[in-house]
Amino acid sequence: MGEARAKVLDHELGIRTVGDLLAHYPFRYIDRTRYYMIGEIRETSDLSYVQFRARITGISVAGEGRKQRFTAYAQDATGAAELVWFQGVKWIEKKVEVGREYIVFGRPSFYRGELQMAHPELETVEQALSRKSESGMQGIYPMTEKLANVLSVKAMYKVVCDAWKLADGHIPDPLPDSLIQQYHLISLRDALHNIHFPQSQALLLAAQNRLKFDELLGVQLNIQQHRTDRMSKSNGFLFPKVGDAFNTFYNEKLPFPLTGAQKRVIKEIRQDTVTGYQMNRLLQGDVGSGKTMVALMSMLLAVDNGFQATMMAPTEILARQHFANFRRMLEGMNVKCAILTGSSKAKERHEALEGIASGEIDILIGTHALIEERVKFQNLGFVVIDEQHRFGVEQRARLWTKNAQPPHILVMTATPIPRTLAMTLYGDLDVSVIDELPPGRRPIRTVRYTDAARLRLFGFMRQEIKKGRQVYVVYPLIKESETMDYKDLTDGYESISRDFPLPEYVTTICHGKMKPQDKEESMRQFKSGEADIMVATSVIEVGVDVPNATVMVIESAERFGLSQLHQLRGRVGRGGEQSYCILMSGEKLSRESRARLDAMCQTNDGFQLAELDLKLRGAGDINGTQQSGEAFDLKIANPTLDQEILSATREAAIAILEQDPHLMLPEHRGLEYLKRKHSGREEIDFSRIS
Ligand code: ADP
Ligand code: MG
Repeated sequence: MGEARAKVLDHELGIRTVGDLLAHYPFRYIDRTRYYMIGEIRETSDLSYVQFRARITGISVAGEGRKQRFTAYAQDATGAAELVWFQGVKWIEKKVEVGREYIVFGRPSFYRGELQMAHPELETVEQALSRKSESGMQGIYPMTEKLANVLSVKAMYKVVCDAWKLADGHIPDPLPDSLIQQYHLISLRDALHNIHFPQSQALLLAAQNRLKFDELLGVQLNIQQHRTDRMSKSNGFLFPKVGDAFNTFYNEKLPFPLTGAQKRVIKEIRQDTVTGYQMNRLLQGDVGSGKTMVALMSMLLAVDNGFQATMMAPTEILARQHFANFRRMLEGMNVKCAILTGSSKAKERHEALEGIASGEIDILIGTHALIEERVKFQNLGFVVIDEQHRFGVEQRARLWTKNAQPPHILVMTATPIPRTLAMTLYGDLDVSVIDELPPGRRPIRTVRYTDAARLRLFGFMRQEIKKGRQVYVVYPLIKESETMDYKDLTDGYESISRDFPLPEYVTTICHGKMKPQDKEESMRQFKSGEADIMVATSVIEVGVDVPNATVMVIESAERFGLSQLHQLRGRVGRGGEQSYCILMSGEKLSRESRARLDAMCQTNDGFQLAELDLKLRGAGDINGTQQSGEAFDLKIANPTLDQEILSATREAAIAILEQDPHLMLPEHRGLEYLKRKHSGREEIDFSRIS
């Protein structure tokens, strides 16, 4: 191809070689054997590309200079269409012959019900007939806007065709034959051929399958090798003792009996910490299942064995809440806690940093601030990461490097992640599940209201507040938005609190852009019961715990994601009282929004909701998936959706490494290549990621 286009291709997509180009897979295919009639192409047919055969009945040129616009009128037996060009007018003017028949290919759009196409591709019928195509299905390639300016869909396809001709016959297969046979795969050559030029639907599937297999096998070879490494190094801290801190707490301070699930998880953690290996554990438990207590008691185990522990929370509010709770629960015990957040004042910061370095402080609670360079622990033995999905992979890796010897790591989340996916996202880790809520919880009743029911809503809120309960009202409007500036934001909030139509009650406000001390004061008012109503944004989504709150009103609920709604709902139903979640939404909803809200009304089960979420949103959008795709250079595999292939590659990787731990055998050279290719970004050593 020409140098100018090659440059753009490199710049926009990093494609330099024939190999790069062939590794740039189509994201969809169109059937070039199918010709539509114009009358068949409707606004509602939802077609992204179509082709039809039509005669040009006339042309017109409008505008001047750069604003010129060329229109060709096309017609077949069933209808008419307008083909429009805004660029290259001179060139197209020469090319189009009135009265002649063309094959028109492009993206349909509609103007007042009339079919229009901007910049379609035109071929004479003779040209189309003489075109020898590789396949009836033509790949549509991911492009950037800049690239699309210099390469049309057709030109891109042609470049790939040329590349294929050069490459065919020179494509070695990285997988040994035995593996190809065992997993019924097609060869890499056939896979590449069919991903670009599908010879049939079945071969296209087989091609996708094979290419995904290679990517996920590469990732799994890395993970499994790291796991073997970790298990061959006995460098985990030992917590052999259950001592004063744990026992005193358990016998004298524990405010309630632990649930069976909490006990089981604490036991699992105890067992992990006496093996001599570093613990890497993911704790999944629905909102309100009592993960915090497990964290605290595990940290006490570390303290009993002479180590420091730290707990990292995703928000300031949550960190402060944990700190206050821990301090209260540990009162009178010889365990020192401190807090460090981004907005810690000099004194607090100084105390935390000094105490942590000298070893005087046993437990440090904090936010992201914990991973700053300046934070030096004397002997960090145990790390808890709360609601992990808020942290990036790299941040977790940085927390780890605070020690020469790796601390035990407990990652806690209310968002259920399938086990195999968790392994891809977080390296090799063990999974614990709290599958039991504390006793006496009543299922939250969830209903959906529209604005028409607002008066009823206020009446209901009054009624609950009169009973002595408290109410959350959550608005979506301020989502750490850069486009909305600070003033708009506070104004918006002031007006909400001023106009909030229950003037007889004390309303307090909390949102992400408030000063930390104001936020804290507002939380305090609500927690202490001074305020009846908390008007907030989703800053309260994670972890906030006020058992007396029984009503969660979510405004514009259709604008929240399913897991967010579930998290928000989890703020109520924490005491013994019947709690309610009221989803306020507009009348008109998209099908997906409706499905989300209906699901919320039907179930309280976070695992079920997560599954549904996966179905509704499909690929790519689940927490961390995107991230893992980029980090491990996955082009076609999606660990969320390709679970079966993921399990197969995991099994294959384990078997291969058992036979050849360092991939030294000649027939494993290709595997070594796959492993290197999907080893994750350099800065991430993922034996170290949580
Ligand atoms: P999450 O798992 O969402 O972090 P929390 O740890 O915040 O949940 O616990 C939710 C609420 O349940 C808290 O008020 C906590 O004190 C309470 N709780 C935790 N464990 C128990 C238990 N075993 N019995 C009764 N209440 C409990
Ligand atoms: Mg929590």
